[in-house]
Amino acid sequence: MERSGQNLSQRKRLGLMGGTFDPIHVGHLVVAEEARTRFDLERVIFVPNNQPPHKKAYQVAQAEHRYAMCLLATASNPFFEVSREELERPGPSYTIDTIRAFRARLGSEVELYFITGADAVLEIMTWREPEAILAEAHVVAVHRPGFDLQRLSAAIGPEQGARILTMPMPGLEISSTDLRRRVAAGESIRYLTPEAVVDYIYKTGLYR
Ligand code: NAP
Repeated sequence: MERSGQNLSQRKRLGLMGGTFDPIHVGHLVVAEEARTRFDLERVIFVPNNQPPHKKAYQVAQAEHRYAMCLLATASNPFFEVSREELERPGPSYTIDTIRAFRARLGSEVELYFITGADAVLEIMTWREPEAILAEAHVVAVHRPGFDLQRLSAAIGPEQGARILTMPMPGLEISSTDLRRRVAAGESIRYLTPEAVVDYIYKTGLYR
């Protein structure tokens, strides 16, 4: 909603890139950069989750490893940051808690863009307080080539579906699942994620 004397173009816009990032890869970085320019975002803050609400903790790499890889991958971009917001919060990482934490810190004037995968957004109505999420932030669903966008309105309902922004993951068939599989199979992950992350994965023995 517009406040008196201030139109939308004057309000600060901030991207919150939500995900498990297990591991972060070039697709995530391209998406964040694309979203930054497309929505005129001042910064994009990567928010790796601590305990994904819908996954068991043992299924994902330790949060500190995923956080470290996000730091390494984003270090060269002055518009990217990585937040420990969800890492410092015990228990499942509910998106509404994160949005409220940023809102409390940044004030009501900042527009928040919560950017994450379309497959995750398909289930947003099962997340904690979905209506509040949609009221507090613009939700951007990032989809890979071939994703049928009608699935979103079918899963979420036409009214809420219309409030979700969508963005293609530009021509990249890269996924964290594929990177984990490649490491386990002894295949190369070079150039699929920044070199520092490749080195980190080999050094720590993650995903073997
Ligand atoms: P996921 O099931 O691991 O990922 C779903 C799909 O989205 C995958 O294809 C994934 O690709 C892609 N994806 C994930 N994050 C992305 C991003 N930032 N940009 C582009 N594609 C992305 O989903 P998740 O990572 O666990 O959850 C996504 C976000 O939703 C997280 O912030 C999570 O905390 C939040 N969430 C909240 C609730 C809740 O509040 N109750 C419930 C579920 C999820 P890659 O595997 O290649 O990343």
